[in-house]
Amino acid sequence: MKSVLNAQQIEELGKLLGRNFEEFVPLGKYTTANVGGSADAVCIINNSSDLETICTLLWRWNIPFRIFGKGSNVLVSDKGIHEVVIINRSKNIEFNEDNYPISVFTESGVNFGSLARQAALRGLSGLEWVNSVPGTVGGGVYGNAGAHGSDTQQILLLAEILHPIHGKKCYSAADMYYAYRSSAFKRNHEPVIILNATFRLEKSTREDVEGRMAKYMEHRQSTQPPGASLGSMFKNPPGDYAARLIEAAGLKGTKIGGAEISKRHANFFVNDENASANDIYQLTQLAKTAVKQNFNHDLELEIELIGEWDAPDSAALEN
Ligand SMILES: Cc1cc2nc3c(=O)[nH]c(=O)nc-3n(C[C@H](O)[C@H](O)[C@H](O)COP(=O)(O)OP(=O)(O)OC[C@H]3O[C@@H](n4cnc5c(N)ncnc54)[C@H](O)[C@@H]3O)c2cc1C
Repeated sequence: MKSVLNAQQIEELGKLLGRNFEEFVPLGKYTTANVGGSADAVCIINNSSDLETICTLLWRWNIPFRIFGKGSNVLVSDKGIHEVVIINRSKNIEFNEDNYPISVFTESGVNFGSLARQAALRGLSGLEWVNSVPGTVGGGVYGNAGAHGSDTQQILLLAEILHPIHGKKCYSAADMYYAYRSSAFKRNHEPVIILNATFRLEKSTREDVEGRMAKYMEHRQSTQPPGASLGSMFKNPPGDYAARLIEAAGLKGTKIGGAEISKRHANFFVNDENASANDIYQLTQLAKTAVKQNFNHDLELEIELIGEWDAPDSAALEN
């Protein structure tokens, strides 16, 4: 199969990244749902300086590409994508406890939960809610990740962002025009790369911070299913819950192929290890149709669909 990259570009990326550059890679192992077809190439990046270099090169060559953190909010089509995918594993973290406000600078590939646990060890508060969000800082800043009544918007001091035309610039939370699980960049599908972020923290005690984290984790474990998934598939409508609507439409436990609308939490669609991306996609179409028919409400996806999708399976929608 022909790649979006030509032979010279493949050679150059190989020289720059060594074994961290690979062609025709199935993306399932880079998403938390463990499904999806292949990308023409994958570049694994370990620091934000390499992230900047590779993105700038791909923009100069006019090669379509996208960045994944942990792939915990993306459903990639089984047909794959004719693009390069950058897997962001940049991981530098620096706590600043000497100045006001207390803050932490973090590269965008850092796992949000591990950042929260490191803050807790220092008795620093502000990231407790992040502990169980399985994405990276970059994914969280891009999509305004949130839980337990808090979100990224409330703690972000600055994010350094690379843009193909405007170059590198720092953005405050206000500059991001955040909304519920959304930023202006996400809404406008802008091809930006979040390089790093600085979050505001507060002095507390390790005991208090870890206590709150444990309480949140306990709540999560008792309400959400284990197994491969993308977390909540749909945004909650104002004043209601997508899970409640899907459950009330009678869909809890419904299966298509190897994917199931969780019996524990109807907004989680779980891969039982044999699911295809299309199985999960068809469940989203079923949930949308049933909620529209029963409650005249249009569910809006929280996850991002990537690639091309078959038309909804009419037999499944009628059952
Ligand atoms: C079990 C489970 C529980 C979850 N619980 C929550 C929850 O409580 N709250 C919540 O908000 N979400 C939750 N999620 C969803 C998900 O973890 C978040 O949306 C997370 O912020 C996505 O981060 P990621 O690194 O995985 O992003 P990805 O899924 O890799 O990417 C998502 C989008 O962000 C873009 N992106 C990623 N990194 C960058 C970057 N550096 N620069 C520019 N764009 C970037 C990608 O291109 C893509 O468009 C859950 C998911 C799972 C599987």
